[in-house]
Amino acid sequence: MTRWCETCDRPVDGEVCEVCGQPVEETTHEPMPWRWRFFVVVTIIYLAWRLYQLISWLAH
Ligand SMILES: [Zn+2]
Repeated sequence: MTRWCETCDRPVDGEVCEVCGQPVEETTHEPMPWRWRFFVVVTIIYLAWRLYQLISWLAH
């Protein structure tokens, strides 16, 4: 279970954040912040676009 550093707004594997040195508590933080959701959406759109290009290339 990955913990979450509220200070750095990043996931932490251990019990202490390696960036700011703060002890990180077991979190009830939302597991996927909007930035990651945005990144996933952009990735999906990019892959869909690449797939579309591949299909149109294969159709020739
Ligand atoms: Zn931190």
